[in-house]
Amino acid sequence: MKYTFVTLFPNLIEGYFKDSILKRAIDKGIIEIDYLNPRDYSKNKHFKVDDTAVGGGAGMVMNPQPLFDALDDLRCKDENVHIVFLTPVAKPFVQNDAKRLAQKSHIAFVSGRYEGIDERVIEKYADEVFSIGDYVLTGGELASLIICDATSRNIEGVLGNSQSLEVESFETPLLEAPSFSKPKMYEGLSVPSEYLKGNHSKIRSLKLALSECKTKFFRPDELKKYKVTAKL
Ligand code: SAM
Repeated sequence: MKYTFVTLFPNLIEGYFKDSILKRAIDKGIIEIDYLNPRDYSKNKHFKVDDTAVGGGAGMVMNPQPLFDALDDLRCKDENVHIVFLTPVAKPFVQNDAKRLAQKSHIAFVSGRYEGIDERVIEKYADEVFSIGDYVLTGGELASLIICDATSRNIEGVLGNSQSLEVESFETPLLEAPSFSKPKMYEGLSVPSEYLKGNHSKIRSLKLALSECKTKFFRPDELKKYKVTAKL
């Protein structure tokens, strides 16, 4: 999988790939990272990439020209590139999107800054648009890293143990049951006694009950889906 980050601030992104799981995936050749800076395509003599909003309104908007030229160049080099725009004005990114995106060969994440990107760029080039939640960030770089990270975990070979994917939250509508590590007793706090007895069927039942409790408390919307699925 190749990821191209289309951003005015590649430095904000680079550090994330210098350690841990995604660095290992790069070293193993499973993922490749590239950057495209719209400023390098600006035809303005001062390399400006933004201007005031037509029709009025606060703040600056990213101009179409540098992005049109950057994205044309990208598509020309790889016609299969899947172009994703990050914007709060979109459907929220979820786990199923991460699994689906993991099947692509090349994804480009286009990050906005200032008041956002001229809408004509999104209309012309977006294969998909995603929001990462109902709040406004200063730019799309963090949002693109979040989607890149969640997607990469679903690419074969990125995680050491692919079984860890199967039991995670959002694989079913239930959130994951609580996890505990050693020691079994720490500062007077024990792990649940059933976890210690080694009866795997009882442990599974307890984990299911705890998953239901967590989901009921934190995500009652997801629990409703679970109950509907369980009835089918
Ligand atoms: N004026 C825009 C609005 O109110 O919808 C917000 C622009 S925001 C300050 C600048 C950039 O940050 C956006 O173009 C987008 O790329 C990114 N961004 C901000 N919040 C986001 C979110 N929740 N999800 C994805 N991207 C986001």
